[in-house]
Formats: sequence, structure tokens, C-alpha cells
Amino acid sequence: MSAHYTVIGAGLAGATAARLLADSGNNVLVLEKLPHVGGSVYDEKDGSGVLVHRYGPHIFHTSDKEVYSFLRRFTEFNGYTHRVAAMIDGRYVPVPFNKNSIVKAFGSEKGAKMISEAEKLETFPAVSVLTLIGSQSDLLKELGEYVYKNIFLYYTTKQWGKAPSEIDPATTARVPVRFTDDDRYFTDCFQGLPSDGYTEMVKRMLESERITVRLGVEAEVTIRDNRIFVSGRPVEGKLIYTGETDRLFGYRFGRLPYRTLDFEFETLNEDSYQPYATVNYTVSENFTRITEFKKMTLQKTDGVTSIMKEYSREFTGNEGEIPFYPVITDESREIYSEYLALSRNIPGLMLAGRLADYKYYNMDAVVRRVMDVLSADTKGE
Ligand SMILES: Cc1cc2nc3c(=O)[nH]c(=O)nc-3n(C[C@H](O)[C@H](O)[C@H](O)COP(=O)(O)OP(=O)(O)OC[C@H]3O[C@@H](n4cnc5c(N)ncnc54)[C@H](O)[C@@H]3O)c2cc1C
Repeated sequence: MSAHYTVIGAGLAGATAARLLADSGNNVLVLEKLPHVGGSVYDEKDGSGVLVHRYGPHIFHTSDKEVYSFLRRFTEFNGYTHRVAAMIDGRYVPVPFNKNSIVKAFGSEKGAKMISEAEKLETFPAVSVLTLIGSQSDLLKELGEYVYKNIFLYYTTKQWGKAPSEIDPATTARVPVRFTDDDRYFTDCFQGLPSDGYTEMVKRMLESERITVRLGVEAEVTIRDNRIFVSGRPVEGKLIYTGETDRLFGYRFGRLPYRTLDFEFETLNEDSYQPYATVNYTVSENFTRITEFKKMTLQKTDGVTSIMKEYSREFTGNEGEIPFYPVITDESREIYSEYLALSRNIPGLMLAGRLADYKYYNMDAVVRRVMDVLSADTKGE
């Protein structure tokens, strides 16, 4: 079967592209370097039978009805609503910071006074930390400074590897404190995890007689005279590339900076480790957060639970490291735009996905991006 399209990568971007193309009658070849499909959303059962997310906890959430109904063809969602706490001075304080968090941190009497002071503010019930810090009210100033220090400052330094003095309050403290009882982490209309896991969902997306998936194949994509070659052979049809764009072009304009993550998994012989699926360590520890998977997958595993600690560090490009979060600066934007300009001259090449577009995308945004790229291609845009 000759392929009309070759897709590099079997993550969510690659799987969405392959499926949509197959649905419209195309033969698709998918090449994936890992021994499994799913990319960053890959999950599997660990040695104790607990379903874990190997590349960090993933909670699906969207307000995009088209994306949601596309994915619903391949899975049901388990209805989980994500709630997160920060561990501050031995207490679990809900984040995003809301009325309950204020009462937890300051007690009910002082908390109530803060809330009634905040009612006078223009943007109430959502007030940015920066506004609170700049407020005339001493109580609101105290609240703003508390949230900035205990939720953002150290956490951001860990996440992005910066000294506290390098953190610009104007950027980090734009996030609002919610003066409501809503303690959901995401407020989208649809949220949850695929009932049988992400890997299963992606496998089903790729199940089609028109799709051939080759795992464990690192595609060497090269461009010569504006023609695309995969492992030395001219590509058949068009190519959708979901890998690293700087790599595609031999790093000729320099490397795009990323943060990578180290994951430390542990299985414990207990029913429950922590009261929330995810707890952010915002003022202590070297890791950024601990996730207890069964609290989000809603899997019943009596007497056993698996947790994971996440450590963030600079991506160096060494063997085995995965580039996770793009480090967006003026310089990296500039480098990426040079690669993008090059890619636009190459007939039949489409970039899509978190690595190829050098963007932090949530899962729904990746699916949406692929839908838009393919629809523009069909219209010849
Ligand atoms: C720690 C973490 C937590 C996250 N949590 C959430 C969340 O809770 N909710 C949410 O909506 N989103 C979340 N995301 C974002 C989500 O992971 C991404 O939006 C999505 O997985 C991106 O899919 P992708 O296909 O673009 O990239 P990837 O999943 O990285 O897939 C790219 C694939 O291409 C393969 N590949 C690359 N180059 C080659 C090559 N040359 N040859 C063969 N194969 C190649 C890679 O091996 C990989 O499998 C999170 C991301 C991270 C890092």
C-alpha cells in the first residue's frame, strides 16, 4: 500500500492527523521512535497493576465541542474533576487560591475580613495577585504577598530553574485569586480521563486498515533542494512532522531551549497517600509536585497506590532526555520563526504538535491544531 501521507510521531498530534486523513480516504504511514504509541500521554499499568502516566499526569479538559466529540469516538471519559492543593507549612491549601484557601491559610475570622475587603475591588470575584499586592488595604496586601510568596515564587524558580530575583512579579502574579468556592483546577465544560487510559484511546484512533504504524523507528527526516527525505528515501505524498523542528533542520539556527523532567515513581502498600490527586510543593522540597494516579484514574486498587514525584531541569539534548516545556523568550521565538520560515518553502511539509510548533499545548489544543492544519491543507491555504 503506498502512503498518501507519512506522519512522524504517534503522539496525540500524529494519531489525530493519521485518523482524520484515513477517515477522508488516505493511506497513512506513521513512524514512531518509541516502542509505544501515545507520546507524552502514554500510560500503562506498573508492576502492581496501578495505571500510571509515564510522562507526567494528564487531565483532559476542553470547551471545544468538536475536539471533544472527535475523541469521544475512541473513548469514554471517567468524569474526574481535577483539584489540586499546595503543601504549605504542613497544610494542604487548595489552588488556584480561592475562598477555601484563604480560610485555610488565615483562619475564618481574618479570612472573612479579607473577602469582604476584596468585594470592593473592580474585578471581584477574580482579582490578580498583583492587584492585591498593590491594594490600599493592608489585609489584601498581606493576602497578595502570601499568595505570591507561597504559591508562585519558589515553585516558579523550581519549574523554570531561575533565582527568585529573576522572577518578574508582573508576569507570575497576573494569575487571579478566585473569591468563590470554586476549587476546580480547570473550569472547562468537559473534563476527565479516558476510562481505559490514554494509550488505549490512541491505539483506537490508529486502528484503521488505511493506517500503518511502525514503532521503534527513528525517522531521519532531511530536506534537500526543498524535497523531503525519510531515512534517505524521498517521501511519498505529504509529510506531517510532529517532532522537534530545530532537529529537522539540523539545528542550523541554534537549539530551541526546553525544560525536561525527571520522574520518580513509587508504589506503596496503602490505600491512599494524599487527599488530592496532585499536590504542588510550592515552598519546600526539590520536586515540584506529587501525583497519586488512582485519585485521577479512579482505579480501584485496594491496599496499593502509586505516586510520582516530578523534578524539573534544563534540557541538554543528552541521550534519553525528553524536551517537555518550551522556554519561550524573545530569543527562542526568533530562532523558531527562522525555522518556520524555512519550513514554509518546502512543498508537502506540515508541522503540527507541541514540538513541531514549539508551543505548550494542552491536549485539546493539539487536536484542534491538527484539525486546523489539515483543513487549511485541504483548502490549499
Ligand atoms: C508533564 C506534562 C503534563 C501535561 N499535562 C497535561 C494535562 O494535564 N492536560 C493537557 O491537556 N495537556 C497536558 N500536557 C500537554 C500534552 O502532553 C500535549 O499537549 C500532547 O501530549 C502533545 O502531543 P504531541 O503529539 O504534539 O507531542 P508528543 O506527545 O511529544 O508526541 C510526539 C511523538 O513524536 C515522536 N517523534 C519525534 N521525533 C520523531 C522521529 N524523528 N521519528 C519518530 N518519532 C518521532 C516522539 O517519540 C513522540 O512520541 C502535559 C504535558 C507535559 C509535558
